[in-house]
Amino acid sequence: MENNVDVIVVGGGHAGIEASSAIARYGCEVLLITLKKNQIGEMSCNPAIGGLGKGHLVREIDALDGVMGRAIDQSGIQFRMLNKSKGPAVHGPRSQADRSLYKKSVQEILLLKQKIKVFEGFVDDLIIDNQEIKGIVLDSDKKIFCSSLVITTGTFLGGKIFFGDKTFEAGRIGDKSSSKLSEKIRNLDFPVGRLKTGTPPRLLKNTVNWNLIEMQSADENPIPFSYLTHKIDVPQIKCGITRTTNKTHTIIEENLSKSPVFSGSIKGYGPRYCPSIEDKVNRFKDKTSHQVFLEPEGLDSDLIYPNGISTSLPKEIQEKFIKTIPGLENVKIQEYGYAVEYDYIDPRCLKYTLESKKIKNLFFAGQINGTTGYEEAAAQGLIAGVNSALKAKKSDSKFILSRTESYIGVMIDDLVTRGAPEPYRMFTSRAEYRLLLRSDNADQRLTDKGINIGIVGNKRKKIWLSKKKALRDLKEHLTNLKLSNKQLKKIGASLLKNGNIPSIQNLITGNKVSLEKIITNIEPKKNYPIDCINQIEVDMKYDIYIKRQLSDIKQFESEQKTLIPKGINFKKIKGLSNESIDILNRHKPETIRQASLLPGFTSSAVFLLIYHIKNKRDRLA
Ligand code: FAD
Repeated sequence: MENNVDVIVVGGGHAGIEASSAIARYGCEVLLITLKKNQIGEMSCNPAIGGLGKGHLVREIDALDGVMGRAIDQSGIQFRMLNKSKGPAVHGPRSQADRSLYKKSVQEILLLKQKIKVFEGFVDDLIIDNQEIKGIVLDSDKKIFCSSLVITTGTFLGGKIFFGDKTFEAGRIGDKSSSKLSEKIRNLDFPVGRLKTGTPPRLLKNTVNWNLIEMQSADENPIPFSYLTHKIDVPQIKCGITRTTNKTHTIIEENLSKSPVFSGSIKGYGPRYCPSIEDKVNRFKDKTSHQVFLEPEGLDSDLIYPNGISTSLPKEIQEKFIKTIPGLENVKIQEYGYAVEYDYIDPRCLKYTLESKKIKNLFFAGQINGTTGYEEAAAQGLIAGVNSALKAKKSDSKFILSRTESYIGVMIDDLVTRGAPEPYRMFTSRAEYRLLLRSDNADQRLTDKGINIGIVGNKRKKIWLSKKKALRDLKEHLTNLKLSNKQLKKIGASLLKNGNIPSIQNLITGNKVSLEKIITNIEPKKNYPIDCINQIEVDMKYDIYIKRQLSDIKQFESEQKTLIPKGINFKKIKGLSNESIDILNRHKPETIRQASLLPGFTSSAVFLLIYHIKNKRDRLA
């Protein structure tokens, strides 16, 4: 093993994988140090990738040539497009994964194709000189030096596991906690807090009474995550759905005090949108039942992941309540659910590149920054990876994505400006410009950026450039295309009210004919790629709204840069509450952007401030 490398990545989880891969794609030497090589790509909790907002992140990672999209395409056993009945902006690609196939695919991409060097070890300390990172110290006291370092230790820093009142130190079940590194980070005066997450018990598949369970199939035509995948070849399975009952809730309520969250043993906040079953029963008292998805952990796995009942209640209570769920009356628990509490750093101490503001060339990515979920971790890993490589190569460039062009940008902007007082997970509602940031057009938004910075391989570059040309050609062709009366009849459309021939856009929006139908009927011999057709159709259908969002973005960007005049009397702003005036007087922000980020300063207060400044400017003009 080399004693000096360009970049060291600590942690082979989802953030570490994307970070190492991006660093290698950029052409930098990377050493991935992780506890167990065979656990690279381990899914600590639910074996599934994607979902609402999360699926967008995976597409964006893929558009930048990352690993996650390709890995899930090679291991996904139930592809479903969530929110399909709603508009394309909120479609959420998701797939259940075969846990071991996923890990295998990740390891193949990372270790065999990219040949990334991995060292099995435990990092205990950091070498820092003059506020700049110089390397790491392993638990064997061995030192390895580097130009940049990316820390992606997930739930391991100060990790503590809870089953009821039984507790012990661990990063996740079966893995030791990282206590010395945690101590080091605290001693460096990083702002550290505690968060928690949990996982449900795993059930033996053949002890479920499947006759009582409603089954849900995969989509008939699974849509891959990766722009490089043509077709999903993995067999698709069904998942089950059952529900908790009154009896379940009674048992849980009677034993709430035995849950470490309710007894006060766990202090950290848990993920609000992925609560434990005891949280749900306690918070939503009027609900008589909660859905439980029974998701196989793999094609040949004996285990079922019961999604929706993560718990840290004692083992005997888990045994009791689970048997009150229809279909699970005789179920055998193979592994019990548990909660893990861990250290995270307040991401407001990071720059947009995910480099620490305090220590030069030290980057953080993933769950350690207060997020929850594989996709959020992976997306940060990619950004931290590219930027650490740029720093290692002494480049002045930075790879920063804005919230107007990507979900990755939304997440990082939220993290570094607002922090993560509770585990942060992605949702489509976090993005202001959803119609532009669709999961289908991530390549249009990001692949050129990835090519320019140098992290997109030749294969993807070739595929994207040819798709880009096809998109341009087809768009141009459709703009000029005029159909004959006969052709209109063929697709079941008619002339416009004024007797004119409708444009293709009219046909899609007015006559509600799909672009695919138009093209296959009018030009059956031309073989346009279906994803190009679909993307253009969405662009045409929502053209007005897309243009409006583009103009909103322009306005947003200029407003954010607007200077707040010095000496302004905030008391004179009509409608501004005393609390908001107080906040402005205390913090004295220089720009609208700074004001909008002040804790407690609401969006309507921002609006009043902008209105006041503009009005004053107009009056002076
Ligand atoms: P991880 O995937 O945890 O990877 C961390 C890596 O760092 C590991 O490879 C580890 O070996 C390595 N490492 C740690 N310390 C050291 C060290 N000192 N030296 C060398 N290597 C080190 N997410 C959800 O979205 N929903 C959930 O319900 C959910 N529940 C969860 C339940 C549990 C019990 C756990 C453990 C996690 C859960 N997660 C959940 C979180 C999900 O697993 C993480 O979001 C995701 O794995 C984070 O990825 P990461 O790369 O940041 O860290």
